[in-house]
Amino acid sequence: MNSLATFMDWLKTSQKTVVLTGAGMSTESGIPDFRSSSGWWKNIDPHTVATVTALENKYDLFHEFYSMRLTGLEQCQPHDGHYILADWEKRGFIHSIATQNVDGFHTKAGNKHVQELHGSIQTFRCHQCNESSTKEAFIQKETCQECGGVLRPNVVLFGEALPEESWTITLKNIQQADLVIVIGTSLEVYPVNQLPTMTKGKTVYINKDANPNAAYFDLIIEGKAKETLQHMQTLL
Ligand SMILES: [Zn+2]
Repeated sequence: MNSLATFMDWLKTSQKTVVLTGAGMSTESGIPDFRSSSGWWKNIDPHTVATVTALENKYDLFHEFYSMRLTGLEQCQPHDGHYILADWEKRGFIHSIATQNVDGFHTKAGNKHVQELHGSIQTFRCHQCNESSTKEAFIQKETCQECGGVLRPNVVLFGEALPEESWTITLKNIQQADLVIVIGTSLEVYPVNQLPTMTKGKTVYINKDANPNAAYFDLIIEGKAKETLQHMQTLL
């Protein structure tokens, strides 16, 4: 059997399948992979802007960066690959998705069981007292109504811990899975890159490029997320 046929066989027979998605899932919606594309915005390395240090010491720059990302996101929509994963959940082929993406597109496409491991850029809070806020208030650069602190999106910044509940649920799902499908992640971001090693189930890596970090996967399928999922959908 070729690797695609093997994959389809595993997908159809697995009792519990977990999908883990990264930036490569969103690039086909037009969302740039800012973690890996340094220098695309004002010649500033995003690793220096998406940080607590920037939030606390260079708020203007931090605010401009996330306002730009939010404006960019308004032009983007989930693509066919997102909708195929929603269809697979509905039909019982997959049970949950854990994602490194903050765009909320898996939920928007219709998946019900989604863990956002790096948070969400669609919801906001006060950095100081955690009071929830709104996108409008953030864009308008308002301060917290409770304490006067600065507002921020609910994304996990470099140097911050992952949301504990999402991590715990994901870990449990992965440990119980008999198939883990990883789509469009470079496997470079700790600790999410550890997740595929924590299952006793089979592991499949789908990515547009070969990746030396993926050598331990049971199966590797090279291809872009959307077109690979579209092809798989015709075989299901
Ligand atoms: Zn506050």
